[in-house]
Amino acid sequence: MSEFKNLESMADLVSLCKRRGFLFQSSEIYGGLGSCWDYGPLGIELKNNVKNRWWKSMTFREDVEGVDASILMHPEVWKASGHVDNFTDPLVDCKACKSRFREDQIDTKAPCPNCKAEGQFTDAREFNLMFSTQMGPVEDSSSKVYLRPETAQGIFVNFLNVQTTMRKKLPFGIAQIGKAFRNEITPGNFIFRTREFEQMEMQYFVKPGSQKEFMEQWKETRYQWHIDNGLRAEKLRFHPHGPKELAHYADAALDIEYEFPIGWGEMEGIHSRTDFDLKQHEEFSKKNLHYVDQANNNEKYIPYVIETSVGCDRSLLAVLCDAYRLENPGDKENERVVMKFHKKLAPIKIAVLPLMKKGGLEELGRKIYNDLSKEYKCEFDVAGSIGKRYRRQDEIGTPYCITADFDSLEDNAVTVRDRDSMEQSRVSLDKLTDFCKENLS
Ligand code: ATP
Repeated sequence: MSEFKNLESMADLVSLCKRRGFLFQSSEIYGGLGSCWDYGPLGIELKNNVKNRWWKSMTFREDVEGVDASILMHPEVWKASGHVDNFTDPLVDCKACKSRFREDQIDTKAPCPNCKAEGQFTDAREFNLMFSTQMGPVEDSSSKVYLRPETAQGIFVNFLNVQTTMRKKLPFGIAQIGKAFRNEITPGNFIFRTREFEQMEMQYFVKPGSQKEFMEQWKETRYQWHIDNGLRAEKLRFHPHGPKELAHYADAALDIEYEFPIGWGEMEGIHSRTDFDLKQHEEFSKKNLHYVDQANNNEKYIPYVIETSVGCDRSLLAVLCDAYRLENPGDKENERVVMKFHKKLAPIKIAVLPLMKKGGLEELGRKIYNDLSKEYKCEFDVAGSIGKRYRRQDEIGTPYCITADFDSLEDNAVTVRDRDSMEQSRVSLDKLTDFCKENLS
């Protein structure tokens, strides 16, 4: 086994992501927009694979249905949920340089971390993290709406719609993937904390009293999902919330954390949210949101909720960090960066690399590419030395490279190179589809 290093600095990953087309800074030609990122061709493939795995694992089961609620919601939703009053951070400004800080992240008796001026901070003010905008042509307070800061409320307000139309019995869940927006004070660390991001959330409605049991179940299920994404177990841990950390609506909560190069950070929150949200919406909307439990003498109650809430971008960042390997560092001939993505997540599954353009090799390569592209996301690349082409595919984490050479025209076989072992094997053309099925499906 060759020597290797895992990812040590986020800067190395940012540079690879930009160089290879995973992520670009938003509006880069205008100098960029703070903490906003655009997914490039490989980034969007990876992201779709993460989302599809989540969607499949959460909704391809009898007890969970999906929705896709709108980003803009009735403004009362955010009063009911507590976001208008409570979704705030305490902010202080340096009176000298006007830099803004979260009060809980600095020592306000010490000099300003930016300009070093002493004793210069304003009193703390509560700053709401929701983005607001206007709906319709008239700009007054009645037209104010918010960009949702979480996807969960789109699920709560649809609880009865889903329950009745899909004839669901408790326990059951509703899942959703979608954008959320937070005017974060201290965004940064690449896509770890951004102001626009995607969440993959599921609210599981249960009979009051059974929440502990389902919290345990979902804790295990969600942990396993991250493991199945290929993340190393030693990089994952649970962080249970102590009484002081618990949100006002929760009776228990824990985070699944990953050890990023910047340290341990939350990837997913699993929250026992009680009946808080549905009760609030019942009160604010004046609509009855009780569940009628036909299995128990038509008992009526508001269900309790276990929520699993994972950041799509943040779990994708963990996947990127975990996959990164620098092999044979310092050994010029053999050094390579390889993204060891789980095959299910790899943005490109197969690269077809004819040895050269001439002699019918390009045509043969194109035929293979066209056949395999019906099933798999493939790349075709005929330019440059084969060594360089292999290195590029290693850096974007392509599990298999298929090379057609002059022997191929004689023996109707191609060379298949394995990303991880770099071993090459000869596979005959009529066995290629089976090979891919066995190794990629
Ligand atoms: P944090 O403590 O990091 O601000 P949070 O506890 O506010 O996160 P939740 O409200 O529980 O986060 O959101 C669920 C998930 O959404 C988080 O675990 C994270 O993966 C993701 N998330 C939250 N805020 C952001 C953000 N600004 N950028 C990217 N992902 C985010």
